[in-house]
Amino acid sequence: MREGPDGVDVTFSGGRSGRYDLVVAADGLHSATRRRAFGDVPLSHLGGYISRWSSGRVVLLGDAAHCPAPSSGQGTSLALVGAYVLADEIAKTGHAGAYEERMRPYVAKNMAFGRRMVKDMVPGGRLAIAFRNYGMRTLKFHPRKEQVIEKVLAPLREAANAEHLVAAPRLRDFAPEGR
Ligand SMILES: Cc1cc2nc3c(=O)[nH]c(=O)nc-3n(C[C@H](O)[C@H](O)[C@H](O)COP(=O)(O)OP(=O)(O)OC[C@H]3O[C@@H](n4cnc5c(N)ncnc54)[C@H](O)[C@@H]3O)c2cc1C
Repeated sequence: MREGPDGVDVTFSGGRSGRYDLVVAADGLHSATRRRAFGDVPLSHLGGYISRWSSGRVVLLGDAAHCPAPSSGQGTSLALVGAYVLADEIAKTGHAGAYEERMRPYVAKNMAFGRRMVKDMVPGGRLAIAFRNYGMRTLKFHPRKEQVIEKVLAPLREAANAEHLVAAPRLRDFAPEGR
């Protein structure tokens, strides 16, 4: 990739090349596009993000920018909400605009939930594991199992539905009228 004042000139491994206004790196945790634009960045497999998500005309999306711990169960949602917010910014400004600024609080909230869940999903020590397994096995007999499940899921629901953090109260269609 070579960036100039009129766009990014990209040559693909197959030999094809083109000039683009914006390159969106949505190629996952081990993003090769990110490596080209940002160099090698240290990765965190329990949830982490890199210090900034855009460099010139290259912008990172999804796991390439912020990969939450698997315990959050939110990686896909963050990637999709990010794509939505990025599309909104491109539609409004022609570039990444305030995409990163809008996404960071939402991503941080969901990542914090993932970190909190790690200790429940991967408890430390045999006793804690036995206790967790016993709880899971007997949950179906619990007289108030719905309330227990609701209590466990409440923080996830709160993090996932914190749309106000990205200032996107309602999904809307970015396609021009009639398409
Ligand atoms: C075990 C596990 C369980 C998970 N469970 C959940 C869950 O329950 N809920 C949830 O929301 N998330 C979950 N996730 C996280 C979720 O899978 C990711 O956060 C999500 O897939 C990120 O989407 P992405 O599009 O950013 O990246 P990816 O899904 O990684 O997509 C990147 C794409 O880019 C392609 N690619 C990479 N390099 C190149 C290249 N050089 N050229 C062309 N293409 C390339 C890849 O083939 C891939 O298709 C889980 C992840 C794991 C590992």
